[in-house]
Amino acid sequence: MLQVKDLHVFYDQIEALRGVSLSVDERAIVTLIGANGAGKSTLLRSISGILRARSGSIKFAGASIEQAPAHLIARTGLAHVPEGRRLFAKLTVDENLRMGAFRRNDRRAIEDDRERLMDMFPRLRERTAQISGTLSGGEQQMVAMARALMSRPRMLLLDEPSMGLSPLMVDFVFDTITKINGEGITILLVEQNASLALQIATSAYVIESGSISLQGSGVSLLHDERVREAYLG
Ligand code: ATP
Repeated sequence: MLQVKDLHVFYDQIEALRGVSLSVDERAIVTLIGANGAGKSTLLRSISGILRARSGSIKFAGASIEQAPAHLIARTGLAHVPEGRRLFAKLTVDENLRMGAFRRNDRRAIEDDRERLMDMFPRLRERTAQISGTLSGGEQQMVAMARALMSRPRMLLLDEPSMGLSPLMVDFVFDTITKINGEGITILLVEQNASLALQIATSAYVIESGSISLQGSGVSLLHDERVREAYLG
C-alpha cells in the first residue's frame, strides 16, 4: 500500500533522513521505533506531504505522491495524526470531528460514522460539547484519532499516540489501534512505547540518525538483543 524508497530529507543543510526505504502492506500495522531526533516525525511528515523530500520516491496505493501537496495526499485516503494531536483547541469535540469530514458531502454516512466513532470512544459521547483544549491528554488523543477516521482513510499515520498518557489510557489507545486495523485500515505507527508497539506490529523498523538500522517482524524485533538494550530497557 505504501512504498518509500531511498528518501533524503533536509532541514536547510541538515540531512534528517539519509536514504530511508520502508514499505507497508495493505492492512498491516507497521511500527517505527527510534530515539528522540532519529527522524520518525520527519518521515511521517514527508509521507503526508507536509515536508518535501530532496530525493527518493513515495508511492501510495500505486500513485507517486512525493511531489503532491498535503491536501491532495489526504484526499487519496492517507490521514496523518501528528505528534501532540494538533486539535482545534477552541472548537468543541463535535466541531473537531466534523472538521475531519469537511471534504465529504455524504451527510447520512457522516452521521453514521460519527455514531460509530462515539461507540468506539464512549468518553467522547459524554463530551461532544466540551471545548477540546480542556480535555485530558487521553481524550485529546481520542479526538485526534476520531477526527482522522472521519475522513474515511485507507491508511493512518500515527505519531506517538500514547505519549504522555496514563497506563490505562495507553492500553485503550493500543486496543483501539488494533480495532481500527481490524476494520481494514492500514497503520504506520511511530512510538516511544516500543514494547506495546512491537507487540501489535505485523512488521517493524528501527531508525537511527536518519537511517533504517533494523527491520523484521514485530515479534523478531521484540526479541532482538539490540532492540531490547536500546529501546526496551
Ligand atoms: P522525537 O521523538 O524527539 O520527535 P523524531 O525521531 O520524531 O524525534 P524528528 O522530529 O523527525 O525526530 O527530527 C529529526 C531531526 O531533524 C532532528 O535532528 C531534529 O533536530 C531535526 N529537525 C526536526 N524538525 C526540524 C525543523 N523544523 N528544523 C530543523 N531541524 C529539524
